[in-house]
Amino acid sequence: MPLAETRLSEAVSVFTYGGETLAESYGSNATVFFGKGAIVVVDPFVSPVQAAELDALLRRRDASPVTHVVLTHHHTDHALGAGYFAARGAEVIAHPLAAARMADEHAALIAVRRKDPDVAPLFEEAEPYAPSRLVAARLALEAGGLRFDVFHPGHAHTPGDLCVYATSLGVLVSGDLVSTGYHPNLEDADVAGWRAALESLRGIPFRTLVPGHGPPGGREAVEEQIRYLDRAGKTVAGTRKTVGEDEATSALALAFPKFRLRIVLPALIDRFRRM
Ligand SMILES: [Zn+2]
Repeated sequence: MPLAETRLSEAVSVFTYGGETLAESYGSNATVFFGKGAIVVVDPFVSPVQAAELDALLRRRDASPVTHVVLTHHHTDHALGAGYFAARGAEVIAHPLAAARMADEHAALIAVRRKDPDVAPLFEEAEPYAPSRLVAARLALEAGGLRFDVFHPGHAHTPGDLCVYATSLGVLVSGDLVSTGYHPNLEDADVAGWRAALESLRGIPFRTLVPGHGPPGGREAVEEQIRYLDRAGKTVAGTRKTVGEDEATSALALAFPKFRLRIVLPALIDRFRRM
């Protein structure tokens, strides 16, 4: 899949490979804010190769450098491309708990992927990267005349989540707190915290929401994610696990027929069963 752009305005675009495979960065979104003389990228894909491809598209549009990269969490499909921009002078912002998980996990994940011939070329140049600026609670970021409220919504999708609200543009980048048309990965989630975080997003006067995966939408995207968590939890609760078969997998596929990323369902089922 080629890199596709959705232009929300002159100042904001969302880029994605679509799809749901690792080679497509699991369909994650990279959100780009164009300021005057400064560009802010939120979540620069799963590999430096893809970050470079994004950078090449940006170079054709705007001579301004990527000055800031914000990582919404430590999962590689959002974070591993950061090293590419860091090597070119960008400040990389993350939550301390995301930085810790990157330090713990990324080297091993890169090593495994370099041995997989299908994706090895994407990870040849990948290196674990330590963010240059840590935000534990909140940061008021100004870049090229654009203002951002970068905040930690609590432990929701992962312990080290950050959301990015572009205050003057009314655009909220939620990271994987919201996925649209994709099953969410619950392997590091706190489901109660996630629900509370989604409810707290209602208090932000955003007009446009960019989810971690799937097309940008409006305020309804938060309500849909809350309904998803409720329905997925009830679906799993109504199923049984027997040796060699888990009814929950097919029940979830039936409940959400068009959703991508079924690869995350075992972790999701496990998380709900342990609640
Ligand atoms: Zn994630």
